[in-house]
Amino acid sequence: MHDESARSVATTSHAVVIAGGGPTGLMLAAELALSRVDVAIVERRTSQDLAGSRAGGLHSRTIEVLDQRGIADRFLSQGRIAQVAGLALIPLDISDFPTRHNYGLGLWQNRIEQILADWVGELAVPIYRGRDVTGFAQDDTGVDVELSDGSSLRAKYLVGCDGGRSLIRKKAGIDFPGWDASTSYLIAEVEMTAEPEWGIRHGDRGVNGLGKLEDGKRVRVVLVEPDVRQGDEPPLSDLREALIAVYGTDFGVHNVRWLSRFTDAARQAASYRERRVLLAGDAAHVHSPAGGQGLNIGIQDAVNLGWKLAQVVRGTSPESLLDTYQAERHPIGARVLKSSMAATALNRGDERTKALHETVSELLKLDEPRKRYAARMSGLDIQYDLGSGHPLLGRRIPDLDLVTEDGPRRVFTLLHDARPVLLNLGEPGALDIAPWAERVKRLDARYAGVWELPVLGVVAAPTAVLIRPDGYVAWVGEGTDQGLCDALTTWFGAPSNP
Ligand SMILES: Cc1cc2nc3c(=O)[nH]c(=O)nc-3n(C[C@H](O)[C@H](O)[C@H](O)COP(=O)(O)OP(=O)(O)OC[C@H]3O[C@@H](n4cnc5c(N)ncnc54)[C@H](O)[C@@H]3O)c2cc1C
Repeated sequence: MHDESARSVATTSHAVVIAGGGPTGLMLAAELALSRVDVAIVERRTSQDLAGSRAGGLHSRTIEVLDQRGIADRFLSQGRIAQVAGLALIPLDISDFPTRHNYGLGLWQNRIEQILADWVGELAVPIYRGRDVTGFAQDDTGVDVELSDGSSLRAKYLVGCDGGRSLIRKKAGIDFPGWDASTSYLIAEVEMTAEPEWGIRHGDRGVNGLGKLEDGKRVRVVLVEPDVRQGDEPPLSDLREALIAVYGTDFGVHNVRWLSRFTDAARQAASYRERRVLLAGDAAHVHSPAGGQGLNIGIQDAVNLGWKLAQVVRGTSPESLLDTYQAERHPIGARVLKSSMAATALNRGDERTKALHETVSELLKLDEPRKRYAARMSGLDIQYDLGSGHPLLGRRIPDLDLVTEDGPRRVFTLLHDARPVLLNLGEPGALDIAPWAERVKRLDARYAGVWELPVLGVVAAPTAVLIRPDGYVAWVGEGTDQGLCDALTTWFGAPSNP
């Protein structure tokens, strides 16, 4: 990794500056670097180390997205595959889903971040560590980004991946409407003298949990507080008080390695862009961790934005392409807010809510509701609104086993370098895209199997598909090239002159 700490940064320019090197900022930096954009990250932390464990893993679609870049194995080899999708602790099994990754992955956020940071390092992205972005000023051609060490950076675009309290969002004057907290939770990594009550305990206000950490010694504590409290750094007395309120004892809690607080406040940026300043990840949306969605949708925001921003920076696409980032990702964030609010409500332990939980639980055992919600929670059902037509339009391309002139190939391997692909499954040599040849890969291939999508089931086999770098289908050929030139222009810019 390039640590720029020692270097003078007084007048440095980059095409894109990313504020914040958490999961979202790292993923976005990698996406831009793959598209050969000069990108740098400014990160407050001096190393990638993360106090506490935070997110516990990845959902299926996120693993697919990482597979599209050829790095899924790095995560899979360090984590534990499991059925992780669920709503309010009602499990939603996806093992019968048509995806290579019909599971989730248990892996703590500090490991996830380290793997992403190593990849970003291989892609030679500079990270200005140990300093904050403290402000910025934008004009018609770029953004001046002020750093806490007194230096500044000049960029064409600034992306705020600086978490839920995003300074970028605030300074851009972007509203953050939503719902205040109804419950606050303490989260901690501690040691306990007495053997605690392992596992989950439902309380009137929500779910409490005590779990063994990897070293077998420390305990991960998640506790509902007796009343809604604020502040990131609660005192140890709050933890003792909450333990006693739930369990009647504090189990001799000591050696607190990490103690923090989170709430179920749910808020979303009214706009993901203010001219040359964009937001992604927690900077754009915050909600309760119930459902384990935040890190996942942050990574997917980054993968939606990266190639679009790269094309705009390079001048191959107009700035209006960036509007599709908001149009596509804002509704995804909004529904995650809703599902996390539903989960928080269903997790309350009073008798009426328990009855509702039982009812929902029964419903989600039925095949159709189970598939629908499982696909939603695992991110496999996303359909961006690219108009009407074939069911594949706007949906993820499945990772099919193709036969090509050079032998067998998986579709996802075609996306490793984050470039668009026109996959021609019809007459070899058909579909001339010469004016886009520099930008779009074209491949003749054969595929003999069925096309099956999560929830929808089997769909008609297309004769060609235009796949965006994020793995979503931008155009479907059904025997002709009708609409192909329009789709190429919309997504990858006007045709080049011969
Ligand atoms: C208890 C808990 C459990 C969770 N469980 C899950 C889960 O199971 N699954 C899941 O998907 N998500 C989960 N989440 C949510 C997940 O942790 C976040 O959604 C995720 O970290 C968001 O990533 P991000 O990169 O957008 O923001 P962050 O991770 O917040 O990263 C922001 C980065 O910006 C840096 N920064 C901030 N301000 C500045 C500045 N001004 N200048 C420079 N740098 C700055 C910070 O140091 C940080 O590195 C959980 C969260 C909590 C609290």
